[in-house]
Amino acid sequence: MNNTNNKAKIKEIFSSIQGEGLYIGTKQLFIRFCACNLNCDYCDTPFLPQHINERDTFFEFTPDELYNYIHKKFNINSINYISLTGGEPLIWNEFLAEFLPKVHTKFYLETNATITENLEKVLPYIDVIAADIKLPSCSGIQNSFELHNKFFNVIKHSKIDCAITRQYDCDGKKVFAKIIFDHRITDKEIESCIYLAKMYDLELILQPRMIGNELSITNKTIMDVFDKFSSKYKKIRLIPQVHKFLDVE
Ligand code: SF4
Repeated sequence: MNNTNNKAKIKEIFSSIQGEGLYIGTKQLFIRFCACNLNCDYCDTPFLPQHINERDTFFEFTPDELYNYIHKKFNINSINYISLTGGEPLIWNEFLAEFLPKVHTKFYLETNATITENLEKVLPYIDVIAADIKLPSCSGIQNSFELHNKFFNVIKHSKIDCAITRQYDCDGKKVFAKIIFDHRITDKEIESCIYLAKMYDLELILQPRMIGNELSITNKTIMDVFDKFSSKYKKIRLIPQVHKFLDVE
């Protein structure tokens, strides 16, 4: 029986082009959830991330209501992935555990990779995990590497494949990590990122911090940082946020 008290607060739902990471340029339906457990210095979400701001606008949906809404408003067949973004979508793990099995589309989870205890119920239904590695120097978040280590460890040891759970043609779960950096990145942070990447076989995406639609650091600094990473680890790409250049959401 469906639980009508199981509601999520959602800031916005829209279709656009993925502007970050390995799946850049793919058409996605973005479901942006309210609230976040972190408070990064560079957060640009259009609502207070660390808690739900009751004065802000949001929509409340039960899993059935969200299912009906997205199927009525969007052509789900025309999109590559439904992107669960935020905020931090894993805050709403009880909601997602009920919503995700209903929808026969691939799911892309954008997460700050820190709420490991909420991952278990959601993980079987996710095709792509775009996980952040938060640098204390740029994000202001401390102890992030320990939290990420636990998070990636659970994914690595998960035996559940989304193809089995969802009974459709899934070509395996993909996990990659995105690192937002600026000129304050330290050699120790670079070592910690590479440690995690090697331990969990992660492709790393280096993303220079933006301020508005401008890069926050010089091209030389960007290339210096990229060279430091790539001299020690080969599965790495430098990809700025593309949607800001295209001026789309
Ligand atoms: S994890 Fe993302 S949504 Fe949460 S505070 Fe950091 S940048 Fe904002």
